[in-house]
Amino acid sequence: MRAMVLKEPKLPLELRDVPKPKPGRGQLLVRTSACAVCRTDLHVVDGELPNPKLPLILGHQIVGRVEEIGEAIWEGPQRPDSRGTEAAPTFAIGDRVGIPWVGWTDGDCAYCRSGRENLCDNARFTGYTLDGGYAEFTVVDARYCFHLSERYNDVEVAPLLCAGLIGYRSYRKTGHARRLGIYGFGNAAHLIGQIAIYEGRELFVFTRPGDEATQQAAKEIGAVWAGGSDEMPPERIDAAIIFASVGPLVPAALRALAKGGIVVCGGIHMTDIPSFPYVDLWEERVIMSVANLTRRDGDEFFEIAPRVPVRTHTETFALEEANSALDRFRAGKLSATAVLKMTG
Ligand SMILES: [Zn+2]
Ligand SMILES: [Zn+2]
Repeated sequence: MRAMVLKEPKLPLELRDVPKPKPGRGQLLVRTSACAVCRTDLHVVDGELPNPKLPLILGHQIVGRVEEIGEAIWEGPQRPDSRGTEAAPTFAIGDRVGIPWVGWTDGDCAYCRSGRENLCDNARFTGYTLDGGYAEFTVVDARYCFHLSERYNDVEVAPLLCAGLIGYRSYRKTGHARRLGIYGFGNAAHLIGQIAIYEGRELFVFTRPGDEATQQAAKEIGAVWAGGSDEMPPERIDAAIIFASVGPLVPAALRALAKGGIVVCGGIHMTDIPSFPYVDLWEERVIMSVANLTRRDGDEFFEIAPRVPVRTHTETFALEEANSALDRFRAGKLSATAVLKMTG
């Protein structure tokens, strides 16, 4: 099969002909039809995340169809699963399947046993420590996959599998915040902002200072205010989600918070956070990060997304154009979420 392979960080991906993987016990062989490009892919290529599998096939927002089913879907002792054993999805040959970032957890560590499989000590990640979707086929553990609403075609739904899912987990951490600020209006913010407005929140969007085009785009989806990250919103906000990987935004967001407010850092990588006076944290303000996702987050998100309905904007590239998609992403030159579309 054709695959775009990362030989080592900081090198461009190479188009290679590699053996088609074989599904093992409990796994599905999936013929990939679309794979969205995530900022995390850039962090892996740029060497900002430690110890990737090498050589590696990137990509963790994968949509495809089940081509072959491994020996047996998981039997044996049922392990703790954030979904509960009842809700585990089953797949037949030809079914459409969505494959996210978390590709495997041990079900056995203290985190898994307490419903926090997103923090599993031994978790494996699609397109990072497991091969992902920048290829014609991929194998996945069926227990971590999702069925996808028929409302979406393969390309449209792909960005929901990470930007949507992890954004959703960040959003849920803001509780019942009425005034929600979002710093960094990229893919995740665009998707989650739609849910926030659907749920009656007031959305405040902070962009790079002077980025009027993005501020305009935020107002178009219904933000009540959009301005630069160096500005204070007209009213204090109850929660802020930071999707940009820029550490100085953390103290900036803290200063915009009402008492008891929370700053949620939604990214996997961020530059250092400068020091700030304790008074900015005082009055029960909270800073937290969000790591990965649980399957329960995914089930909830894929239930609500088609109801909103959350709309995605995509720009498609052929598999062999993956480097150009990554370069354009890095340079801020994409006008929408890049999605690799497989042909043949
Ligand atoms: Zn675990
Ligand atoms: Zn991602």
